[in-house]
Amino acid sequence: MSDCIFCKIAQGVIPSAKVYEDDEILAFKDIHPQAPVHFLIIPKRHIDSLAEVQADDVPLLGRMLALAPRLAADLGLKEGFRTIINTGRVGGQEVYHLHIHVVGGEFPLPAMLKH
Ligand code: AMP
Ligand code: ZN
Repeated sequence: MSDCIFCKIAQGVIPSAKVYEDDEILAFKDIHPQAPVHFLIIPKRHIDSLAEVQADDVPLLGRMLALAPRLAADLGLKEGFRTIINTGRVGGQEVYHLHIHVVGGEFPLPAMLKH
């Protein structure tokens, strides 16, 4: 098995607070929330980062993005939320398994996510 922590979460080897799951996608709460609501949407299949995305991944990425407002509404974020994808060293990416942050539940939100 790969050493990737989000692959392990996707496989259920490491527990997570699940928000949503289907065949291809998992959403779970961030372990260090930076706002009252902070969850991550990941593909179950390993993709290093947004920089590695291929043409074949486009439908999956579309589904992940379209899920964000649905799950945000489910979690009560009626007045908006922020989506963030950190990419590479300069982008502040810490976990190299593609993930979309969805953050909300207070106003104003922190200007940027901290690292
Ligand atoms: P990034 O800087 O975009 O790579 O963010 C990685 C995020 O993953 C951080 O917000 C971490 O708090 C979060 N994280 C790391 N390990 C876990 C875990 N085991 N469960 C939930 N979230 C995690
Ligand atoms: Zn992975």
